[in-house]
Amino acid sequence: MTFSDRTIPPVAIIPWQNDFLQALLRYVTEHTDGETGRAVIVFPHSRPRRYLLDLFRTSPDIPRPCLIPQILPVSEFLSAVSTAGSTAQPRTIELLDRVGLLLECVRELGIGEQPPSAGEMPASATFTPRGPLSALPLTDARRFFPWGMRLAALLEDFYNQGLEPDDYHYMEGDVVDFAARLLEQLGSIHRLYTGRLDAENWTTPGYDAFRAAHAADSLPAMFAGKIIFIAGFYGLTGVEKKVFTTLRSACGAHMVLHTDPALAAKKTVHWSCKEHESLLEQWQAGTVLLEEPEDRHATIEYHEGFDLHSQLDALQKKLTQTDSLEQSAVVLPDSGMLMPLLHHLPRKDVNISMGYPLGKSPLAQLLDTIMDLQEGRTPSGYPWRRIIDLIRHPYLKMLSLHNARPLQQVFRHMERSVRQGARHTDPRNLQIEYLAEADATGAGTAAVDDEALAALVSRIFDLTLTRWERVSTPQQLAGVLADMCTLLLEQGADMWKRFPVDAECMYRLMHRVIPALRESTVRDAELDSGLLYTILREVMNAERVPFEAEPLTGLQVMGMLEARLLRFRRVYVLDATENNLPGVPANDPLLPENLRGLLGLPDIRHRERVSAYNFFRLIKGAREVTLLYQAGTTQSGLFDEKKQRSRFLEELIWQDEQRTGRLLQAGTPPLHAVSYSIPAISLHDAVIPRSATIDDRIRELLARPVSATMLDSYLRCPVSFFYERLCRIAPAEQVNEGDDHLGVGDLMHAVLQEFFTPYAGQEITRGQLDAKALTGLFHQRLHSSGLQDTLPYDSYCMLSVAGPERLTRFLNNQPETTRILKLEEALEAKVEAGGSTYWIAGRLDRVDERDGCDIVLDYKTGTARKPAQDVWKSEDLWEKIARWHPAAEDDPLPLLSDALRSIQLPFYLYLYATACGRPAGNAGWIALRDSGKEEMLFTAAGRDEVQHAAAHQIPAIIGFLLQHMTTSSCFRPRRGKHCDWCFYANLCTFRLEGPTG
Ligand code: SF4
Repeated sequence: MTFSDRTIPPVAIIPWQNDFLQALLRYVTEHTDGETGRAVIVFPHSRPRRYLLDLFRTSPDIPRPCLIPQILPVSEFLSAVSTAGSTAQPRTIELLDRVGLLLECVRELGIGEQPPSAGEMPASATFTPRGPLSALPLTDARRFFPWGMRLAALLEDFYNQGLEPDDYHYMEGDVVDFAARLLEQLGSIHRLYTGRLDAENWTTPGYDAFRAAHAADSLPAMFAGKIIFIAGFYGLTGVEKKVFTTLRSACGAHMVLHTDPALAAKKTVHWSCKEHESLLEQWQAGTVLLEEPEDRHATIEYHEGFDLHSQLDALQKKLTQTDSLEQSAVVLPDSGMLMPLLHHLPRKDVNISMGYPLGKSPLAQLLDTIMDLQEGRTPSGYPWRRIIDLIRHPYLKMLSLHNARPLQQVFRHMERSVRQGARHTDPRNLQIEYLAEADATGAGTAAVDDEALAALVSRIFDLTLTRWERVSTPQQLAGVLADMCTLLLEQGADMWKRFPVDAECMYRLMHRVIPALRESTVRDAELDSGLLYTILREVMNAERVPFEAEPLTGLQVMGMLEARLLRFRRVYVLDATENNLPGVPANDPLLPENLRGLLGLPDIRHRERVSAYNFFRLIKGAREVTLLYQAGTTQSGLFDEKKQRSRFLEELIWQDEQRTGRLLQAGTPPLHAVSYSIPAISLHDAVIPRSATIDDRIRELLARPVSATMLDSYLRCPVSFFYERLCRIAPAEQVNEGDDHLGVGDLMHAVLQEFFTPYAGQEITRGQLDAKALTGLFHQRLHSSGLQDTLPYDSYCMLSVAGPERLTRFLNNQPETTRILKLEEALEAKVEAGGSTYWIAGRLDRVDERDGCDIVLDYKTGTARKPAQDVWKSEDLWEKIARWHPAAEDDPLPLLSDALRSIQLPFYLYLYATACGRPAGNAGWIALRDSGKEEMLFTAAGRDEVQHAAAHQIPAIIGFLLQHMTTSSCFRPRRGKHCDWCFYANLCTFRLEGPTG
């Protein structure tokens, strides 16, 4: 019998609640009379082949021995059809080559270089030299590349539909200018691009399909003697429709659908199966129902979480409660959830079948960090944060040497040093020092000799920094990547065996990404680093790491697409939200979604139907379904939106409500709300009782001269004083990326000291002070201060402008005449407290003599903490201070702290008077940060009152603070505005947990 003798078989329908592959196997066996080797089965994708082969192996219905049918995914099938009869097999070019070829075409059309020869272009081609494309920046390959990616994808779409695009004019209102120019010449680009593919004997997956549609005549000869089964398709592309139509009419191919059985009975079908219905209408095809629908009603549970982790937690509990996980599948509509899911599965022997995006893998993160390092490189080095990201990456930290993992230690030391350094630094300069330091600790590195360790560290930085600095072609980039892979494999020891998912990603990088760069036609083109990194990132993002489950038993983890045509007893769908089911189309700036349908391309409605069909088909075949989703929380990102449960779930819930006659409420089964009991928490002051160890520490501390800063610390909060001064817990050292207040303060002090030194001991007038000389000095010192490297650029610029302005204001506010007595004078004096004598010390910025009085002055580049004016007259306070003893209930410390705010200037006043034996008439701050005016400590007091304060009240305060520090029964937190910046905020409270609620 020849094909032409055959009648077209009716479309075979397998009810979607039945097992498709089992039924298909029987159908194939029956229609090949047991000679299954004659069958050619075409599936929409490769996954069912593995399951069908397994059925052939185990099914008792198969006569043995038998030949296995030829089973092809449609892409392979179309590729085979497209090349039927041709002697030279075309080479499939990768994305990079496609974009490179498109750039050539666009340049040629735009610039009007060499027009293609007649043989290279179809006769219908029109060529427009110096057309609209000449307006594009065609020499800027970096700018073109992202557009080239989209253009390549768009042309693939046209190929898959079997369409040839036209030039689309007047798109300016719908797309940006760059895209409008490309669309205006889309037909010309397509023709030139196609001509070039033919001329080079190149192809792409889409072009394979396109050529297959034009090679339909060869189908009967190609499949002579074969029986073709087109199995499990939904939503055919233009090419598939054309080829399958020919296959049915010319080759008698069997079309087998897995769909709503109502289609066979010509009743109303589920809306998600409408594509099947319209296909039958187009073909005017009859149908045959292969099996009676099984009575298979799934019990469906819904779990509403508030984030991904709450869903994962609910899933974990559900899986733990299930006796057997045979015939169970966890389905992920978003493959990015694979990694978090793997950490929540109760059993580790799961089988993964899905394509995981390489761009989300830890390997891609490592490469991204390396590229970020290069992008942030300055003449002074690499950005410190990215260096830390690099040396913290687990792949590098876990590299081994002589069966040890010494790098953790080395990198930890290196990180500490990086954190203490500048914003930009070069880790290659730090190696030797750290190796010696790390080795000196003895831990972890003792078994490894320094030289080998130094060589390994050097090799790592060579491959992650040095070589990347010189990369300028895709070929060189491929070389660095290959050498990096070698390093990770050679020194990774058993890491890759223990982490098979990571190993698969590495395999994909080595066998797909590196060859794509190395074998590309632009492999030797000199490209700027930005374009090279864009290419690498895009190629990695486009790459998916395929995981194939083996064996096919137990719990399966798969994507929605991989679950097509398969049936599971238990199905768990994670994150079943509107974003994933049906999903939001990615914004395409080249051809917006609303224009796709007009050009004959599949649009959002088509994709929604495909998504709905995949979902409902999966649910129909299951017995137990658990649908988890997130609701009510906002997504982060530019366009924040609420995550909503999928419209498909809404349909299922609505059906449930209709059946039961009641509304489903969150928290009432089967609609579970994921919730956790949270105990009420009340916070209490963590008071630190005095102990013998604390006494020892305080004695050690007070054996050295006491500074105003130390007393201020105690005055502000005894608990922060305890952690900072007695426990010596310091904030983790970190590169300062904000303003450097300390550095600016030092600069100002140094400039003023240098400026006033020539006048020391002299009486000067304001007119003598040369503002130009002072600002000149400021610029000199600023230049040599190193602040240029440590301050953010904008702060540095601001300082270089504001500094001279403020110094000029300061000079203008100097008194008419003054005598400078001391500059930057370090002083020490004794003070008595509680029968003990202590040394106090400090450095005074400046002391002037004015009208016979000595004035102690303090330059302030920050905010001065001035005391309340009535503090010196507050009888209540002084009485309390005088009466205080460790057992007293009424502690005046908080009162003193609120009133005095800072002991610094009174302390200096007392220190000067005591150390120099001259009474000080007053003390004052010079507000350099704004007006430059002097603000006095005692504003209205007479000379006697100042003398009284200096001789009695200030030493009383100092003595009280020392007494309090050495004898009070505990250290009690003092709360206030200062807590906002306190490093010890987590240590001064404890939690009391109340009953759960
Ligand atoms: S947060 Fe406030 S109360 Fe707590 S230790 Fe710091 S300064 Fe003291």
